[in-house]
Amino acid sequence: MLEAIQYCHTFADLFIVSDANTDFIHAFLEKEGIQHLFTRVISNTPTNTNGRFGVAPYYNFLTREPHGCSLKCPPNMCKGRIEEDELQILQTYERVIYLGDGMGDFCPCHRLRKTDYVLARADFPLAQHIQENPIAANVRLWKSGHDVYQLLTTLLKEHESRTSTS
Ligand SMILES: [Zn+2]
Repeated sequence: MLEAIQYCHTFADLFIVSDANTDFIHAFLEKEGIQHLFTRVISNTPTNTNGRFGVAPYYNFLTREPHGCSLKCPPNMCKGRIEEDELQILQTYERVIYLGDGMGDFCPCHRLRKTDYVLARADFPLAQHIQENPIAANVRLWKSGHDVYQLLTTLLKEHESRTSTS
Protein backbone atom coordinates (compact mmCIF):
# COMPACT_ATOMS: atom_id res chain seq x y z
CA MET A 1 0.00 0.00 0.00
CA LEU A 2 2.94 2.31 0.73
CA GLU A 3 4.07 2.09 -2.87
CA ALA A 4 0.55 2.90 -4.07
CA ILE A 5 0.40 5.98 -1.81
CA GLN A 6 3.77 7.26 -3.00
CA TYR A 7 2.77 6.68 -6.60
CA CYS A 8 -0.54 8.46 -6.12
CA HIS A 9 1.25 11.47 -4.65
CA THR A 10 3.08 12.00 -7.95
CA PHE A 11 -0.16 13.01 -9.71
CA ALA A 12 -2.73 13.78 -7.00
CA ASP A 13 -3.37 15.56 -3.72
CA LEU A 14 -4.00 13.10 -0.92
CA PHE A 15 -6.49 13.42 1.92
CA ILE A 16 -7.30 11.14 4.82
CA VAL A 17 -10.75 11.22 6.37
CA SER A 18 -10.93 8.57 9.04
CA ASP A 19 -13.14 7.54 11.93
CA ALA A 20 -10.04 6.53 13.94
CA ASN A 21 -8.21 9.39 15.70
CA THR A 22 -5.61 11.95 14.67
CA ASP A 23 -2.88 10.69 17.06
CA PHE A 24 -3.14 7.18 15.71
CA ILE A 25 -3.01 8.31 12.10
CA HIS A 26 -0.15 10.77 12.54
CA ALA A 27 1.87 8.16 14.45
CA PHE A 28 1.30 5.66 11.67
CA LEU A 29 2.20 8.12 8.89
CA GLU A 30 5.30 9.23 10.78
CA LYS A 31 6.43 5.67 11.36
CA GLU A 32 6.09 4.98 7.64
CA GLY A 33 7.75 8.30 6.76
CA ILE A 34 4.87 9.44 4.55
CA GLN A 35 3.28 12.23 6.59
CA HIS A 36 4.47 14.89 4.16
CA LEU A 37 2.54 13.29 1.31
CA PHE A 38 -0.86 14.22 2.72
CA THR A 39 -2.56 17.57 2.22
CA ARG A 40 -4.91 17.07 5.17
CA VAL A 41 -5.83 14.51 7.77
CA ILE A 42 -9.30 14.67 9.32
CA SER A 43 -10.28 12.40 12.18
CA ASN A 44 -11.59 12.32 15.75
CA THR A 45 -9.53 14.08 18.44
CA PRO A 46 -7.85 12.07 21.21
CA THR A 47 -8.45 13.38 24.73
CA ASN A 48 -6.65 12.91 28.01
CA THR A 49 -8.56 13.82 31.15
CA ASN A 50 -6.40 13.22 34.22
CA GLY A 51 -4.72 10.26 32.62
CA ARG A 52 -7.93 8.78 31.23
CA PHE A 53 -7.69 8.50 27.48
CA GLY A 54 -10.65 8.91 25.21
CA VAL A 55 -11.64 10.21 21.81
CA ALA A 56 -13.71 13.32 21.19
CA PRO A 57 -16.10 12.98 18.26
CA TYR A 58 -15.05 14.90 15.15
CA TYR A 59 -18.61 16.11 14.82
CA ASN A 60 -19.65 16.81 18.38
CA PHE A 61 -23.17 15.42 18.40
CA LEU A 62 -23.22 15.71 22.20
CA THR A 63 -23.35 19.50 22.05
CA ARG A 64 -24.67 20.15 18.54
CA GLU A 65 -27.72 19.20 16.54
CA PRO A 66 -27.31 15.81 14.83
CA HIS A 67 -25.57 16.21 11.45
CA GLY A 68 -28.72 14.79 9.91
CA CYS A 69 -27.16 12.58 7.24
CA SER A 70 -29.21 9.46 6.68
CA LEU A 71 -26.70 7.60 4.52
CA LYS A 72 -25.45 5.21 7.20
CA CYS A 73 -23.06 7.80 8.65
CA PRO A 74 -22.19 7.44 12.35
CA PRO A 75 -23.32 10.37 14.56
CA ASN A 76 -19.74 11.58 15.06
CA MET A 77 -18.77 11.86 11.42
CA CYS A 78 -20.37 12.34 8.02
CA LYS A 79 -17.48 11.83 5.61
CA GLY A 80 -19.68 13.00 2.75
CA ARG A 81 -20.14 16.41 4.30
CA ILE A 82 -16.44 16.63 5.05
CA GLU A 83 -15.66 15.73 1.43
CA GLU A 84 -18.15 18.16 -0.07
CA ASP A 85 -18.57 21.06 2.35
CA GLU A 86 -15.40 21.19 4.38
CA LEU A 87 -12.68 20.04 2.00
CA GLN A 88 -14.61 21.16 -1.11
CA ILE A 89 -13.18 18.18 -2.94
CA LEU A 90 -15.91 17.96 -5.56
CA GLN A 91 -15.73 21.68 -6.28
CA THR A 92 -11.92 21.71 -6.48
CA TYR A 93 -10.99 18.54 -8.32
CA GLU A 94 -12.03 17.45 -11.77
CA ARG A 95 -11.54 13.83 -10.81
CA VAL A 96 -11.59 12.01 -7.49
CA ILE A 97 -10.29 8.57 -6.62
CA TYR A 98 -11.77 7.42 -3.32
CA LEU A 99 -10.26 4.50 -1.44
CA GLY A 100 -12.34 2.95 1.31
CA ASP A 101 -13.80 -0.11 2.96
CA GLY A 102 -16.29 0.76 5.72
CA MET A 103 -19.95 1.70 5.82
CA GLY A 104 -18.99 5.28 6.73
CA ASP A 105 -17.40 5.54 3.27
CA PHE A 106 -20.68 5.00 1.47
CA CYS A 107 -21.96 8.57 1.89
CA PRO A 108 -18.92 10.29 0.31
CA CYS A 109 -18.86 7.65 -2.46
CA HIS A 110 -22.56 8.19 -3.10
CA ARG A 111 -21.84 11.90 -3.74
CA LEU A 112 -19.14 11.25 -6.36
CA ARG A 113 -19.73 11.90 -10.06
CA LYS A 114 -19.61 9.50 -12.97
CA THR A 115 -16.10 10.69 -13.83
CA ASP A 116 -14.84 9.69 -10.37
CA TYR A 117 -13.62 6.35 -9.08
CA VAL A 118 -14.21 4.35 -5.94
CA LEU A 119 -11.60 1.78 -5.03
CA ALA A 120 -13.57 -0.39 -2.62
CA ARG A 121 -12.01 -3.17 -0.62
CA ALA A 122 -13.50 -6.46 -1.75
CA ASP A 123 -15.73 -8.34 0.73
CA PHE A 124 -15.92 -5.33 3.07
CA PRO A 125 -19.09 -3.37 3.97
CA LEU A 126 -18.55 -0.54 1.44
CA ALA A 127 -18.25 -2.89 -1.54
CA GLN A 128 -21.20 -4.96 -0.38
CA HIS A 129 -23.40 -1.93 0.17
CA ILE A 130 -22.52 -0.41 -3.23
CA GLN A 131 -23.48 -3.68 -4.88
CA GLU A 132 -26.98 -3.36 -3.43
CA ASN A 133 -27.16 0.44 -3.86
CA PRO A 134 -25.40 1.45 -7.10
CA ILE A 135 -23.67 4.83 -7.27
CA ALA A 136 -22.76 7.17 -10.14
CA ALA A 137 -18.98 6.77 -9.81
CA ASN A 138 -17.01 3.90 -11.33
CA VAL A 139 -16.26 1.16 -8.84
CA ARG A 140 -13.18 -1.06 -8.78
CA LEU A 141 -12.45 -3.73 -6.18
CA TRP A 142 -9.13 -4.47 -4.49
CA LYS A 143 -7.78 -6.96 -1.99
CA SER A 144 -4.19 -5.86 -1.49
CA GLY A 145 -1.98 -2.79 -1.74
CA HIS A 146 -0.57 -4.30 -4.90
CA ASP A 147 -4.08 -4.33 -6.42
CA VAL A 148 -4.47 -0.65 -5.54
CA TYR A 149 -1.16 0.18 -7.20
CA GLN A 150 -2.20 -1.68 -10.35
CA LEU A 151 -5.59 0.04 -10.43
CA LEU A 152 -3.97 3.45 -10.04
CA THR A 153 -1.52 2.89 -12.88
CA THR A 154 -4.37 1.74 -15.14
CA LEU A 155 -6.54 4.74 -14.24
CA LEU A 156 -3.70 7.15 -14.81
CA LYS A 157 -2.88 5.62 -18.20
CA GLU A 158 -6.53 5.83 -19.24
CA HIS A 159 -6.68 9.43 -18.09
CA GLU A 160 -3.50 10.37 -19.95
CA SER A 161 -4.58 8.72 -23.21
CA ARG A 162 -7.97 10.46 -22.98
CA THR A 163 -6.50 13.89 -22.32
CA SER A 164 -3.84 13.55 -25.03
CA THR A 165 -6.38 12.66 -27.73
CA SER A 166 -8.91 15.36 -26.82
ZN1 LIG B 1 -23.18 11.26 5.46
